[in-house]
Amino acid sequence: MLEVLEAGARQVFTAFNNLIAIAAFFVLLAYLLKGKEVYKQAKPALTGSAFNFSLMSVNLLLLAPVMSVVLTYLYGYQLSIVDRSLWYELPQPVAIFIAVFLGDFIGYWRHRFEHSRVLWPLHRVHHTDEHMNWLTLQRFHPLNFLTTFIIDTSFLIIMGAPPFAIVANNMIRNYYGYFIHADIPWTYGRWSALFVSPTMHRWHHATDREAYQTNFATVFSVFDRAFGTYRVPGPCNTSLGVRDGYSKTFIGELLHPFNPRVYRRKKPTKE
Ligand SMILES: [Zn+2]
Ligand SMILES: [Zn+2]
Repeated sequence: MLEVLEAGARQVFTAFNNLIAIAAFFVLLAYLLKGKEVYKQAKPALTGSAFNFSLMSVNLLLLAPVMSVVLTYLYGYQLSIVDRSLWYELPQPVAIFIAVFLGDFIGYWRHRFEHSRVLWPLHRVHHTDEHMNWLTLQRFHPLNFLTTFIIDTSFLIIMGAPPFAIVANNMIRNYYGYFIHADIPWTYGRWSALFVSPTMHRWHHATDREAYQTNFATVFSVFDRAFGTYRVPGPCNTSLGVRDGYSKTFIGELLHPFNPRVYRRKKPTKE
């Protein structure tokens, strides 16, 4: 158990350490794309970014050790329905590609259910950032953070994925997640038929009524196309956030899913 907790602590340290390099990358990219305009845009985003960083800190410090323990137990239960040795017969890049593809498939459906009336109150805090940027990736309610990890990882374990493929999938989805949340106007052109672009995910965060229930995938846009939820009407310059506003306090947002009244609404307030 001690080793598992040590692994969790190492994970937290690495995550915070990596954040400096990731921040430098996105600041530089934003400057190259927008020049001095970046300073104007950064100012209103500061409050939201502080909120995102606070949630990231809570999630990592509280949940990284829990996640390490959960992972150890999930592996111990022998849940696989696919022989793990089949994965080792594949070239490693192919195995990793399959893991990311399967990870995105389960992520698509998990995310789609998170936009249902029952699960929306837990997921909505991810959508309350009105100045979305790369750090919005870390804006998740701790319970949503935990269920994401458990559902996605369990699915890969059931599919027999070996540890190296699960770790690679988590890393790729994490870093690509920063990218699609960044304020970058890229649409990918023809490649948008295959991959989720920053513009596609920005539309997922739009307040437009038409943006409801669209663009759930993280890496492969093929899932939204296949299941009828793809929607990118053009560059996304519309307002972002939830339609009914939010409490704007850290504790208020953490307590939001525990208020029975928010489950009585007929429709989700904003997807
Ligand atoms: Zn969402
Ligand atoms: Zn998002």
